[in-house]
Amino acid sequence: TTPMLAAIAGGKGISIGLLVKASEVFYGLSRVDTIVFDKTGTLTYGKPTVTDVHAFNGNRIELLSIAEALESKSEHPIGQAITFFASKEGAPKLTIDNFKAIPGKGVTGNLNGETVLAGKPSFIEQSGINVANEIRNSISALGSEGKTAVLICKGNAVIGVIALQDTPRPTGEQVIAKMKQRGMRTVMLTGDAKQVAEPIAQRLGIDEVQAELLPGEKATAIEALQKKGYKVAMVGDGINDAPALAQSDVGIAIGAGTDVAIEAAGVILIGDRLIDVLNAVILGKASYKTMTGNV
Ligand code: ADP
Ligand code: MG
Repeated sequence: TTPMLAAIAGGKGISIGLLVKASEVFYGLSRVDTIVFDKTGTLTYGKPTVTDVHAFNGNRIELLSIAEALESKSEHPIGQAITFFASKEGAPKLTIDNFKAIPGKGVTGNLNGETVLAGKPSFIEQSGINVANEIRNSISALGSEGKTAVLICKGNAVIGVIALQDTPRPTGEQVIAKMKQRGMRTVMLTGDAKQVAEPIAQRLGIDEVQAELLPGEKATAIEALQKKGYKVAMVGDGINDAPALAQSDVGIAIGAGTDVAIEAAGVILIGDRLIDVLNAVILGKASYKTMTGNV
């Protein structure tokens, strides 16, 4: 389908930048009472930067080289941040075979016949690698500083941790306050750790947070809200958000997001502005004002 340009300027001085794929989307928007947000890339800029590097075998450059070799093939913002950092530190380039990205978990490949992995702690454990208590403690300490810990593994061992931090979009708090003023329920769904997600949600005034969700579980969480009778708009940017965008009553993709998210959504925000999520809902309700009698 070819997206159609819905509106650049609304009647009541609302200036909006969004694309709507089909006119039915306005009807969906008019009924929305719950806004679900992805965290990374949606409520935050999704441009994390590396803050800490811990090499357990003391070889920091090898750690960065392995991380770079894997993450340079990933389109995840974490991958881009690690690649940028490792290159800046001058880590020598290595070549990976059999690269695989596991959405919501991490990345794997082969380096000279040995398995290498980068990803979240639960993914590393599921891969059969033991995460020692002292590594767990260091992950918790990073989490309490709002940092996401990525474990780097070679063979069957965790060789290091790379921590990253993302910046919340400054408009989030105000946009969420305005949504709540209009009686809308706000929810955050994220694949990131609880410790990282909860303080951000609290600061933004979000009603409900669910963390450590896989892409399919984000969709299930939306289905559960729908079963309770909520009409849900889901806002996301990543490949990991596609199932949830498809499940929701209206999927809204951040314009700068991945193609997969844009494909799965009914509304695309051109300008990357969170306030346009609210504007889209207001526009939908205004289009159906005469039919429903309420805005
Ligand atoms: P979000 O829902 O916040 O957008 P994702 O579902 O994309 O997050 O990712 C969830 C978690 O999976 C990340 O916080 C990270 O720990 C891990 N992860 C995903 N992709 C990668 C990657 N390329 N490298 C390392 N870790 C990753
Ligand atoms: Mg995201």
